Amino acid sequence: MNFDYDLLIIGAGSGGIRLSRMAATHGWKVAVVEERYLGGTCVNVGCVPKKLFVYASQYPAQFEQAKNYGINGTLESIHWPTLRDNKTKEINRLNGIYKNLLEGPGVTIIDGRGQITGANSVAVDGKAYTAERIVIATGGWPFKPEIEGAEYGFTSNEAFFLDELPQRMVVVGGGYIAVEFAGIFNGLGVDTHLLYRGEQILRGFDQDVRDFVSEQVTEQGVNIHTNTDVVKIEKQTDGMLICHLNNGETLTCGGVMFATGRKPLTEGVGLESVGIELNNNGTIKTDGMFGTNVPSIYALGDVIGTPELTPVALAQAMKLLAHWFNGDNVLPLTYENIPTAVFCQPNIGTVGLSEEQAREKYPEDITIFDSNFRAMRHTITGETTRTYMKLVVQTSTDIVLGAHMVGDEAGEIIQGLAVAIKAGATKAIFDSTIGIHPTAAEEFVTMRTARSN
Ligand SMILES: Cc1cc2nc3c(=O)[nH]c(=O)nc-3n(C[C@H](O)[C@H](O)[C@H](O)COP(=O)(O)OP(=O)(O)OC[C@H]3O[C@@H](n4cnc5c(N)ncnc54)[C@H](O)[C@@H]3O)c2cc1C
Repeated sequence: MNFDYDLLIIGAGSGGIRLSRMAATHGWKVAVVEERYLGGTCVNVGCVPKKLFVYASQYPAQFEQAKNYGINGTLESIHWPTLRDNKTKEINRLNGIYKNLLEGPGVTIIDGRGQITGANSVAVDGKAYTAERIVIATGGWPFKPEIEGAEYGFTSNEAFFLDELPQRMVVVGGGYIAVEFAGIFNGLGVDTHLLYRGEQILRGFDQDVRDFVSEQVTEQGVNIHTNTDVVKIEKQTDGMLICHLNNGETLTCGGVMFATGRKPLTEGVGLESVGIELNNNGTIKTDGMFGTNVPSIYALGDVIGTPELTPVALAQAMKLLAHWFNGDNVLPLTYENIPTAVFCQPNIGTVGLSEEQAREKYPEDITIFDSNFRAMRHTITGETTRTYMKLVVQTSTDIVLGAHMVGDEAGEIIQGLAVAIKAGATKAIFDSTIGIHPTAAEEFVTMRTARSN
């Protein structure tokens, strides 16, 4: 049978772009269908604009910090529209780069919503296309809780385009997106309240890291309310929002951001037309090489329920290409030792097992090294912010199972350590590595005394 394309991908996000341009580079006839924006979540409403906002949010505090260094300047104003619009300009530039990246090797970009209509066919705005292989790379979408007045709140999608910053903001959620945005708003001078229904923010991270970050973020000025949730939002005639909380109290603010979770974007993709199987949480069920239960249809990225990170979607695309072009002996991707960062202030960088995971996996066989200190820069600024580092080591083998850091540039530092941990480095190798002085990172190779408990 003759198909229009060797490969048709629905969704030009992190995974879809990488897959389509690399497949085209290998000589395949490729099309990618995109209904919103080239680059997907990461480029448009995720990693990239968020990091630009994080940079912005760090400047105001630096005016104060510089004073003890003898550098005097006054913060005159924070002009949100300038930041927002310059960010959008940069994203538009990236959209153009992605267009060139696709068109360069000959990928056809089809604008519109792709809907699967058969094992080898996709409809886009009423037009039919056929392909030997179809890949669903539609990503995820944020959702709001079903409470009265939820429509007055916004999600991360809209946070990047707010008309103005209110004096007080409520951020609902305890995951990394909530914590990062709380840091952004707080740094930009907004009285920020982070509401989380659980005991401690950042579930899934190492407990010491969670406790330390919670303290530090509070120290920076974010008001964290744990065991607290919004049950109803009322809008007043002056536009202010009254959040009714589960503890009976109210919190009046100018904006409510829901960072309460994301769900796979599978609605309207036509999965039911070919009977694609889903996992219990609504993500698409795939095998080790991203195949669905329909042999010609594959899926990857956030929509399949693996760690929701851009580098994971990229690695999956590369693995699928290797499977197609290098044959059956390609091993499935493993999801261990994926380094991640949370760009709150201070940052978190982490790779490998948390202490809790390590103790569960290797009971009675874990040694912990950790250190908590004031970064050199702040010995003069007068800032009380501190840095935390932790190594989780398997006692019997001396292998470092996890490295965690909270402090300036933690993401940058942990990326390097991730290589060592992936390579199976022992604590002895860490100890025999010469430090770079004076840095905070050198602490990772100079921690000698194991914690007693
Ligand atoms: C606020 C925020 C911050 C983040 N920060 C980070 C970070 O710092 N680091 C990190 O690694 N990850 C981060 N992420 C996660 C990262 O953005 C995702 O893991 C990544 O974008 C997933 O890539 P993907 O290809 O699966 O999907 P996406 O990038 O979401 O792309 C899916 C694309 O499919 C399109 N689409 C969907 N349905 C259809 C359809 N039917 N027809 C046509 N097109 C369709 C969408 O418009 C979208 O462009 C962040 C996410 C958010 C929301």
